[in-house]
Amino acid sequence: MNVTALARTLKMTTAELLKKLPQLGFDIGSRAIKIDERVAEKIIKTFEELRKKEQALASQRNVKEIKLDKEKVIAEKKVKLPETIIVRELSEKLNVPLVKVMAHLMKNGVIVSLNEKIDYETAAIISEDLGYQVEKASPDELISPDEGEGKKRLKESLIQEKADLQVKPPVVVMMGHVDHGKTKLLDAIRKTNVMGQESGGITQHIGAYQVMVKDRLITFLDTPGHEAFKNMRSRGSKIADLAIVVVAADEGLKPQTIEVLELVQKEKLPFIIAINKIDKEGADIERVKKELSELNIVPEDWGGKTICVPISAKAGQGIKELLEMVNLVADMTELKANPKRSALGTIIESHIDKGEGPVATVIISTGTLKIGDYVEIGRIIGKIRTMRDWQGKVISQATPSMPAKILGLKCATTVGDALAVITDKKMLKQKIKECRFIKVKPLIKIKKEEADEQQKNFYPIILKTDVLGSQEAIMEALDKIPVNEARIKIIKKGLGTITEIDILDALSAKATIVGFHVKVTPSVEKLAKEKNVEIKLYDVIYKLLEESEDKLKELIKPDLVRVELGRVKALKIFRSTKDGQIVGGKVEAGKIINQTKIKVLRNDQLIGFVDLVQLQSGRQDTSEVIIGQECGLKTSGKPIIQTGDVLEIYQEQI
Ligand code: GDP
Repeated sequence: MNVTALARTLKMTTAELLKKLPQLGFDIGSRAIKIDERVAEKIIKTFEELRKKEQALASQRNVKEIKLDKEKVIAEKKVKLPETIIVRELSEKLNVPLVKVMAHLMKNGVIVSLNEKIDYETAAIISEDLGYQVEKASPDELISPDEGEGKKRLKESLIQEKADLQVKPPVVVMMGHVDHGKTKLLDAIRKTNVMGQESGGITQHIGAYQVMVKDRLITFLDTPGHEAFKNMRSRGSKIADLAIVVVAADEGLKPQTIEVLELVQKEKLPFIIAINKIDKEGADIERVKKELSELNIVPEDWGGKTICVPISAKAGQGIKELLEMVNLVADMTELKANPKRSALGTIIESHIDKGEGPVATVIISTGTLKIGDYVEIGRIIGKIRTMRDWQGKVISQATPSMPAKILGLKCATTVGDALAVITDKKMLKQKIKECRFIKVKPLIKIKKEEADEQQKNFYPIILKTDVLGSQEAIMEALDKIPVNEARIKIIKKGLGTITEIDILDALSAKATIVGFHVKVTPSVEKLAKEKNVEIKLYDVIYKLLEESEDKLKELIKPDLVRVELGRVKALKIFRSTKDGQIVGGKVEAGKIINQTKIKVLRNDQLIGFVDLVQLQSGRQDTSEVIIGQECGLKTSGKPIIQTGDVLEIYQEQI
């Protein structure tokens, strides 16, 4: 048969055929013209089989593509997630069982309880794993009616009955670059404008204070910095209504100022620029305004909308004007709340006071909080037993925008947690049940002996990191530390700030908390000190690894081996003092060596251990007595030997 004819039969060119044949195991030469009929038949058969296989593969591929398409459809399910979200809420939002969400979290190395918050990045990874397309929600979008009880209640706060709405004092946060004067300004405002000075209460730092300006109240958050502000955004409810961005007139806009300006604009938070330190040499107000304009933040006197107030926090200059501007902006934003409803708020400060127990400061966003109210804060349910205002005065209720120190909670709360009064009795019962469940079944419950055992061979740690990436890297590196006999045991890991719950978990597991690029609030630090829990914070991984390795090396103490030498029956107690005995006995097994140890047994029960400090045989000091001989033993230690006891003599060897 001609090669060209064969090629035609196989629907290909001769060149293609000649190229393909060797690949299929037919060696007819690259220049062949004719081919044996039988070989030609074989070639045709081989090609037919090959094509069948290809067709089968193609149809499989089709099925896969269809499947992929389906997956794509699933992936088109979209979800908007906030900055932080409670695991339980994420499960509600995704409409995926809680267990499944927790399992995915664990798979990704995040071990949290159902009531703990996770950050956006973590929630996004989990949601994508579960087939969702994720978007970051803008603050206004965070609350939708189908988002579970907590959110529903917050939603209510936004759709309050119009008739009950009343103007509320603005809650102001101070932001800006470090050293530009935020603290000084907060001090200056407090000094010149505190209300109710005559009340005489000792002013305590509770995270916020209020001033009276022309018969109107303004609430200032006492914790400057945008980190605090970020934390204070709680489940979509903004705590601050307005920001004062402090810019030092002598330095102008710094990277952190720009970051802050971007943040307030993104959060749609009204802001005022306080151009501070105008008393200083080199202060240049116009330069600050120019720099602001370059960022499209145009001052009012330059034809824009941004209010800029030149001040000197040090000299107390311009403070009055600044506060008047705060009121003006508050008027423009029409800040209103409904004092008639049950309270909703955010925790801005939390610590455990030696005398008062857990203490928290809440800023009420809407409603009125009253003594006796049952509240839900994060995973805690509590009853408000006592409330104080920021000056320490006992109050019976806290109205919108008011900072109130609340006492009577059983556990410490977390800064940033939302507070909601529970009005529904049925719900309250259910919540209390859940709460008990959490209490009796803490995240980590390790028996004391287990914890002791862990301490021996393991270095138990709770690892908190800023992001999942660093958590994984650290865990991997810790696992590779070249110390064979001891190991690091990560008993809990998580993302974000170290919390009170971490401290309590560390306490029960006798663990050290290792934080990487994370922070500890003063209240958590205080609790750690009280409970004697060690917190180690790191910014560089190698330092973390180095110190962990040292810790492991410290742990490896050479194992002592107990070698039994012989046994003596105690026949007579010659003398007993409070720290030793002289005992007469007979060696029943092995031999006795001086300066060894004695295990005392009575009816096969262990009584205790003493040291053998002197050995005699026939009233002579000796170093060794053998089986069958009688001897005198002088012991050191609590006198526990009685006539008839069996004394096992042993040595400890490394
Ligand atoms: P923060 O880091 O933004 O809270 O800045 P601080 O309030 O701690 O202020 C930083 C430094 O600037 C301190 O030494 C203050 O005394 C000083 N400072 C703050 N405001 C003024 C001001 O108006 N004039 C002058 N000359 N110094 C100020």
